[in-house]
Formats: sequence, C-alpha cells, structure tokens
Amino acid sequence: MSDPAYVLDSTAFYAGIPYQGSGRYYTTYLVLEEVKHNSVGSSLIHSRVQVTEPSRESIGLVKATATKTGDIRALSQTDVSLLALGLDLKARDGGVSLVSDDFAVRNVAEVLSIPLAPTSLKGGEWKSISWKMYCRGCGKTYANPKLTTCPVCGTQLSKKASNG
Ligand SMILES: [Zn+2]
Repeated sequence: MSDPAYVLDSTAFYAGIPYQGSGRYYTTYLVLEEVKHNSVGSSLIHSRVQVTEPSRESIGLVKATATKTGDIRALSQTDVSLLALGLDLKARDGGVSLVSDDFAVRNVAEVLSIPLAPTSLKGGEWKSISWKMYCRGCGKTYANPKLTTCPVCGTQLSKKASNG
C-alpha cells in the first residue's frame, strides 16, 4: 500500500501540516499564489508539498458537476483546481484525500467520489466534522449544511451526526 496522499487547500496551509509520518502532500499553483503572499503561509510551504497543475479534462468535469449541484457560484478558480487535482490523483494512484473546510468544495468532492480527509487540521490534529446532510432517497451524504434537497435525486435532506 502506498503512502497516504493529501490535496491541500489554502486553509490547510494556515492550519499547519503535520509533516511527520509518510504522507505525501499536493496542492495547485493557484493555492500557492494565495498562500505565498502570507508570511505564515509561505513559511509553511515545505519541500514535501508537490505543486501540480490539474488536467483540463478534470477541470471540465469539476465545473460540469458543480453546475449540476448548484455549487459553481460558491467555488473559486482555486477551489475548482483543487477538486480537479483530487480527481487526477485519485485516477493515478487512488490513495488520495482532499483537505478543505469549504462546504461547496466538500459537497462537490462527495458527488465526484473524491475522498475527503476528516476536515482540516486544528491544533495539529485531523478533526472530524460532527454532522452531515443525509438523503433518505438515495443514501448519499453531503457536508454542506445549506443544502436542503439532494442534488442527485431531489429528495429533501435531513441532518445526521457523522461518526468520529
Ligand atoms: Zn438523493
């Protein structure tokens, strides 16, 4: 089994990245642009973080999916690039998790089946969110608390505590 890989958004950089262990860390050039203007962010950019440009195919798929779920207006170009990189890495080696606190990012990631790390880093630990929106119709769960109906099947969503 290969080492766990993480795709990091800018908040993950500000929260701090646990460099101990054998994890691999990826981000996109757009995220790097955001964090390098901040002295805390730039000091956290570590040689173990690989900056990678996502494929055009994945960017197109992310935009099409976010349009369908209604998240497209909440997503920045940076968010789209992260999701696309998550898709690319998932196709390449499978063992990737996306690290983002952003509800729209997490929602689109779930629809695209990009594994999500248990939300972001707080005090050097991966902390889990405590609830999800749950669809009784098709069984899908979503991290976006503002979502009221299921983007997949249209059923009214209910809140559900998530494990961990
Ligand atoms: Zn549903």
